[in-house]
Amino acid sequence: MPVGKKEKYRCKLKGSFLSATAVLFLVFANAPSLAAQAGAPKSAQEITFTVAMPKPHTHMLDVELRIKRGAGEWPKQEILIMPVWTPGSYMIREFARHVQDFAASDVSGKPLPWEKTNKNSWRVDTGGLAEWRVSYRVYANELTVRTNELNTEHAFWNNAALLMYPDGQLNASSILRVLAPEPWRVATGLPPVPGQKNTFRAENFDILYDSPVEASNFKTIPFEVKGVPHRIVIDGDGNYDPERMRADIKKIVEAEIELMGGEVPYRDYTFILHLRGNTGGALEHLNSTAINASRFGFRSEASYRGFLDAVAHEFFHLWNVKRIRPDALGPFDYTKENYTKLLWVAEGITSYYANIILRRAGLISETEFLASAASAFQGLQNTPGRLVMNAEEASFDAWIKYYRQDENSVNSQIDYYDKGAILGLLLDLEIRKQSKGARSLDDVMRALYGEFFKKGRNYTPADFQKVSETAAGTSLETFFAKYVRGREELEYNSALAAAVLRLDTGGPAGPGKPVEKAWLGADLADENGRLIVKRVYAGSPAYEQGLNAGDQILALNNMRADRAFVDARIEEKRPGDAISLTIFRFDDLSTLLIRLGGRLDAPYRIIPVDNATEEQKQIYKSWLGASLLSPRLSAGQDG
Ligand SMILES: [Zn+2]
Repeated sequence: MPVGKKEKYRCKLKGSFLSATAVLFLVFANAPSLAAQAGAPKSAQEITFTVAMPKPHTHMLDVELRIKRGAGEWPKQEILIMPVWTPGSYMIREFARHVQDFAASDVSGKPLPWEKTNKNSWRVDTGGLAEWRVSYRVYANELTVRTNELNTEHAFWNNAALLMYPDGQLNASSILRVLAPEPWRVATGLPPVPGQKNTFRAENFDILYDSPVEASNFKTIPFEVKGVPHRIVIDGDGNYDPERMRADIKKIVEAEIELMGGEVPYRDYTFILHLRGNTGGALEHLNSTAINASRFGFRSEASYRGFLDAVAHEFFHLWNVKRIRPDALGPFDYTKENYTKLLWVAEGITSYYANIILRRAGLISETEFLASAASAFQGLQNTPGRLVMNAEEASFDAWIKYYRQDENSVNSQIDYYDKGAILGLLLDLEIRKQSKGARSLDDVMRALYGEFFKKGRNYTPADFQKVSETAAGTSLETFFAKYVRGREELEYNSALAAAVLRLDTGGPAGPGKPVEKAWLGADLADENGRLIVKRVYAGSPAYEQGLNAGDQILALNNMRADRAFVDARIEEKRPGDAISLTIFRFDDLSTLLIRLGGRLDAPYRIIPVDNATEEQKQIYKSWLGASLLSPRLSAGQDG
């Protein structure tokens, strides 16, 4: 974090959301570093962004930036920088590629010379003027939670993908004025400037960049928790039930606030929902979140649970990552990658808690919780990359791997969301076991919040282990060395035993007979009438005997093949049987003989064990909020 290291971001951050009077302040803030650099006395400055959208159908957002300072000696040249990424989405996205029509002028409109100095920096020859302005336009035609979209229906943008910052002034406050077409309204987590329409104040650029903006004829579903206003802002129609959505999201908010100690760490909270035919994705922010959801996905229970899971995940982030901050994640360097080994905590444990919260809020049953955990275990065990990459490596390389997956990713990577969630579950049960049910991972999260965020500190991997060990009351070095920094197979049963559960993988140890099925070891997909090999699992029969990702399969045993046909024929085979596959590899036709392997293929299940001690029963109950061995638990699997 070389650029922002010296900045007092965290104190400012905390102040802005704890202080209700912040909105009453004017826009002036000191710019000490700049003034000191120029040998001038401290002086106030005003940074104002105006975002206009005069022709929404062209997808062009017009930005004007005005900088106004008091008397004093100011630099003759200044640099404006467009961020290359936006926090929460760990990939270089090069937002500057959408910038056009850059211009600079003095207050009278007389042009000032300027020059690009690298891909995302503009140097303006201000000649030492105290007041000057810049305008540019940004093409906005991509609706994801980390990009910008403007069309005749609505506008949504991330300020990091739209607004440039003056070099060295990330601490400066600014005003954001939105000129939206009538009758659109504007929603953002930034506090409004009283008396000025669609005008908002950001205490510094980290807060500005952490506050996406929606402008449209959105619907609003408001509710309060502990007297604090929350609103669900919905752009787009869908088959949701507003009352059910309000009630369920409120339950999630209440359960998470209680888990984190009862204090509400924001002045207000905004859920921005975009409902579209086929969309997804969600991104966390300080006191808001943006979630893209399938507009007709609210009637199916499974799909609705997925939506609530996204809500619970993003909302939990307001603590875990937005305030409980991994070492490198704030203050941010917006010009390059910000590396951390802790995304497995920031994302994975957030995913774990999303499920825990849905359970505690009564929105899923313990059967559904355990089925989802069992399915996650199976997913990891079916990923060869689990033996190649550990949780810290997955976090560190998110920038070049997680967001840039290819056909080999399953063999070389793990997903820090999935593995992190599993580690969260195992760590939670380990702490409960070691502390004899006295403490849990909840205590770790609360301690990180109290001991790090509230004291203005970020935490390191060593801090996280230490706080976990304090909760457990014993060393967890073996756990962290083997499962977090190492690549060893996870011992699910040792953790599950703490809550009188065990994992049934359908193997010889399970209650049923082992089901070993014939196995090829490749994922296939029908694409435009062709059967294509999408990926081949390392160590599988397909991998060892020469099938490649990208191969087109024409025939199995000389019979025309599509995916259903191949699946059905392999289903009839036994481990050790051979098949022939006629393939095109690029333009060349050939035939591969492959001897099928065998794999236990039953769905994993988490089931109760007999002879539970009182302590184990208690741990189960405090963990999942239900009594052990309730009829539903052994009734089977769903969700
Ligand atoms: Zn997340």
